Amino acid sequence: MTTPARPVNLPPQMCPPPLLGRCARCHAACHRYGFGGNPLCQAHQHKVAELQAKKPAGA
Ligand SMILES: [Zn+2]
Repeated sequence: MTTPARPVNLPPQMCPPPLLGRCARCHAACHRYGFGGNPLCQAHQHKVAELQAKKPAGA
């Protein structure tokens, strides 16, 4: 039995160039593609996570 590794969104300076893309909101370089890729840069991911944390569950 294998434990799936958690997807990790890398800082752009640590991300392999083929996986780099542009943040959908601010167009900063970010780890956009592949395992752990996210269409938002890390700053925007944190903002979204904060907003979601404030929402009541089920809303
Ligand atoms: Zn951004």
